[in-house]
Amino acid sequence: MPLTRKRVLVTGGAGFLGSHLCERLVAAGHDVLCVDNYFTGRKDNVAALLGFARFEALRHDVTFPLYAEVDEIYNLACPASPVHYQFDPVQTTKTSVIGAINMLGLAKRVKAKVLQASTSEVYGDPTVHPQREDYRGNVNPLGPRACYDEGKRVAETLFFDYHRQHKVRVKVARIFNTYGPRMHPNDGRVVSNFIVQALRGEDITLYGTGTQTRAFCYVDDLLDGFLRLMATDDSVTGPVNLGNPQEIQVRELAERILHLTGSRSRIIYRPLPQDDPMQRCPDITLAKRLLDWEPKVSLDEGLGQTIAYFDRLLTERGPQVAVAS
Ligand code: NAD
Ligand code: UDP
Repeated sequence: MPLTRKRVLVTGGAGFLGSHLCERLVAAGHDVLCVDNYFTGRKDNVAALLGFARFEALRHDVTFPLYAEVDEIYNLACPASPVHYQFDPVQTTKTSVIGAINMLGLAKRVKAKVLQASTSEVYGDPTVHPQREDYRGNVNPLGPRACYDEGKRVAETLFFDYHRQHKVRVKVARIFNTYGPRMHPNDGRVVSNFIVQALRGEDITLYGTGTQTRAFCYVDDLLDGFLRLMATDDSVTGPVNLGNPQEIQVRELAERILHLTGSRSRIIYRPLPQDDPMQRCPDITLAKRLLDWEPKVSLDEGLGQTIAYFDRLLTERGPQVAVAS
């Protein structure tokens, strides 16, 4: 198939998902502009791309307007880990809301397609299981997760209002827990925490009883879904759930990681953070139908890749790597 070379903007492009996305887009022959304020992202994540003339990195905060001529925008800028998005909650809400306004304004001006990295957190602590896109959620608007959850909900509202009011071509992906190489080693998310703790022989910090569930999607699968969603015709706006429907208790995840690493770390119990959802799993019927997409990488295979990544990182950096908990 002949390539149509596009100019693609990736906000949050130096983060975990963003850097993998930039790689995929450069490899496909597109011109990529990576925009990031490096709050949780790292220059290292995109260092290998700097040698490509098709790739450009710009330090910029999406809460300020951006002027660029592009054909497509992937809006990923926003810290994703509870530890990081709760560090400066006001900035988190600003990033989601003002960042969305700025990217939608840009898309409107240059007639670009724009994809929003939304989240399963829009469902809050769900009372419907598994979660389908028509479930309206159970979010506490006042709690410590609200800056992220409500920020992302308003961003979705803005996407659909710009679509209706200004005919902007929008795509909204609701991402469920995604993991893989290049997660920040101390960002506090469960997969990176458990792997780093296991590899270092430190205690595994299980919050609550560990019976809460999540469903973990490997980064490559998630990005296949992103690219397919962006390629859909203009009638497809979403929201579309993207995630792996293989649900697992967090305690079982800890045991899997101990097994795969061969670690002798102990599991210790810590209080469950406020508003931590008890059950989460995507219904991906819509993604299957609209995108002909479903995850292919098994949890053991994806964890294996991620463990190998952190093993290399810890060998290179050793004690500098701390775990946020
Ligand atoms: P990440 O923290 O690695 O990446 C976020 C990136 O955004 C970082 O590079 C960070 O520096 C940048 N950023 C933050 N605020 C910014 C601002 N104001 N201006 C410019 N850049 C800014 O997290 P991730 O896992 O790669 O998540 C990427 C996106 O996907 C986020 O929007 C997140 O909400 C969404 N998401 C991720 C998951 C997941 O499991 N990984 C799940 C649901 C949603
Ligand atoms: N969790 C845990 N130990 C950790 C980090 C997280 O038990 O060291 C739990 C957390 O309480 C939640 C689940 O793992 O129930 C997933 O947490 P994460 O922060 O990765 O993402 P969330 O889905 O909560 O946004």
